[in-house]
Amino acid sequence: MALDGNWARRWVELAAASMAENRTELIHLDRNIGDGDHGENMDRGFQAALGKLPSLEEGASPADVLKLLATTLISTVGGAAGPLYGTAFLKGAVALKGKAELEPGDVAAFVEAASAGLQQRGKAQPGDKTMVDAWAPAASAAEKAAGAGEDAVAVLRAAAFAAVEGAAATEPLVARKGRASYLGERSAGHRDPGAQSTAYLLGAAVEAAS
Ligand code: ADP
Ligand code: MG
Ligand code: MG
Repeated sequence: MALDGNWARRWVELAAASMAENRTELIHLDRNIGDGDHGENMDRGFQAALGKLPSLEEGASPADVLKLLATTLISTVGGAAGPLYGTAFLKGAVALKGKAELEPGDVAAFVEAASAGLQQRGKAQPGDKTMVDAWAPAASAAEKAAGAGEDAVAVLRAAAFAAVEGAAATEPLVARKGRASYLGERSAGHRDPGAQSTAYLLGAAVEAAS
């Protein structure tokens, strides 16, 4: 399937479904090392974005859809994740400006811009036990797949798979950013909720393409 505006809409729909389905799990993860609201925050933000999809013009591009998602997340999600995801999707949308359909290199550019924007905004580095630990490996994997001549959907799949692995790899880490960092060493042994939600969101992007 072409990664066009309809794909991007479908991504928001499936992401909203995934945030609703995984709400409780994300709440539990955030209860372990945070304040227990990540599932609620993400569900609220994506439901709001879902509700705004009909306001898009018929020929909306992937950038148009992702920009709407970003601004909606910024205005409706309280806490750290709203502005962070908002910035990631906004920077990612800028990288896709003017593209009706994403080529393999566009997918890689999107994930890289989202990851870089997120890191700039939150000042977290890979290894700090945040959503960066899902986005940064996703960006590297996408770049590698695009460089190896994979098609656009395969590049997206590579990114999503790396995000799943990156989220799992946050478990032994000690948090150095966000609420979990207040726990110090006690944050080790738990998966980062934002890295897990990133894995779900990129998984929904792949699902939207199949
Ligand atoms: P809050 O911590 O304000 O309650 P959420 O629970 O919605 O917000 O989101 C928490 C997630 O945000 C964390 O699991 C982590 O992935 C991410 N996060 C927190 N601070 C940062 C940061 N500085 N950079 C990147 N991600 C961060
Ligand atoms: Mg929280
Ligand atoms: Mg909170």
